[in-house]
Amino acid sequence: MTSLTNLLDLDPAGLVNYCDELGEKPFRAKQLQRWIHQFGVDRFDDMTDLAKSLRSKLAERAVVTSPVAISDHTSSDGTRKWLVDVGQGNAVETVFIPEDDRGTLCISTQAGCAVNCLFCSTGKQGFNRNLRAGEIIGQLRMAEFALRASKGIPPGVKGERQISNVVLMGMGEPLLNFDASVSALKLMLDDNAYGLSRRRVTVSTSGVVPMIDRLGQECPVALAVSLHASNDELRNRLVPLNRKHPLAELMGACRRYLEHAPRDFITFEYCMLEEVNDTESHARELIALVRNRANPVSCKFNLIPFNPFPSSGLRRSSPARIQAFAKILMDAGIVTTVRKTRGDDIDAACGQLAGEVKDRTNVLGRMAKMTDYQSGSGGKLIMIREKHA
Ligand code: SAH
Ligand code: SF4
Repeated sequence: MTSLTNLLDLDPAGLVNYCDELGEKPFRAKQLQRWIHQFGVDRFDDMTDLAKSLRSKLAERAVVTSPVAISDHTSSDGTRKWLVDVGQGNAVETVFIPEDDRGTLCISTQAGCAVNCLFCSTGKQGFNRNLRAGEIIGQLRMAEFALRASKGIPPGVKGERQISNVVLMGMGEPLLNFDASVSALKLMLDDNAYGLSRRRVTVSTSGVVPMIDRLGQECPVALAVSLHASNDELRNRLVPLNRKHPLAELMGACRRYLEHAPRDFITFEYCMLEEVNDTESHARELIALVRNRANPVSCKFNLIPFNPFPSSGLRRSSPARIQAFAKILMDAGIVTTVRKTRGDDIDAACGQLAGEVKDRTNVLGRMAKMTDYQSGSGGKLIMIREKHA
């Protein structure tokens, strides 16, 4: 028997092709997409404006399966975090950050990460596997409908949208899982799915230069680049990918990206590490880097206080250092923000989704070896995880 197609894996063009293979017109794909992504319906029988014959054809060969959340915690500041089962004892994190004027969801794109940045505990886990498109968009779908449910909005109705912004800043390097990430992005942007504007969807990358160019051509959304260092020697240490794509090359890619980008700046993320990258001379070197006459890049800086994790051997810069650093950049006319830490009590600072995930994921891994752990049967695991949280 051929395996069932999970329709969450199909982007808008993919769903049109799929319908075509079934002998159905393109507008059927739009209808299906609305049921799946706007109404949160899983069962083809509930998709009442599709012909009965199509519904039964779909029931024989397709499914709509979102990844399953094995834990769900809300912090005192409203930040909500799900640990999402991606099979074989692996889990990734999805975090919702409510603010007055927006609700941002931070999504993961890989289980683990091969880039292995010095200050990132996702990197310390090593690379496990790429998430499928359905597992990436499935995080948005799962979170959107969970948030609606908390407000008493049931599936099957066109409810008020809860998530207004998405950032691919969870676990993993989105541009090293390019095709699946772009399929998910296309669904985020599609009017018959989530209908988010390009400006409200951000990809964060450690600097995979050729893929920054491809993203600009195939699906330009807002871009955040994890810079973290003002010169190649330091960046080689902090972000090992820099040895392959050094700063001059990265700045060139940023400048080219701006020709396609929905915003007229790149956001540079900069993780503040005490005495490693946070001195006055680093700040001045950064200004020179982005103002380089041959290769200037229009940018904003987002300073992220380092989120420590066991055995990192690194420390977070003091608030005074961070403020002094920000002031130097701002005095040079560069818009600079300092990221607020959110969800501290549930360990859900966005962009640092790993704090204890390494341990948690290892717990899941160990459990997988010890028990017959199947997706979705995680009750026991949640308790174990909570002991470690
Ligand atoms: N791989 C992509 C996206 C995921 S990481 C990237 O590196 O951009 C998202 C952001 O969190 C990156 O800027 C990353 O450098 C930052 N980050 C990772 N570990 C962190 C930590 N321990 N403290 C603060 N920021 C961290
Ligand atoms: Fe991977 Fe990003 Fe972590 Fe670096 S910071 S190891 S690229 S997830």
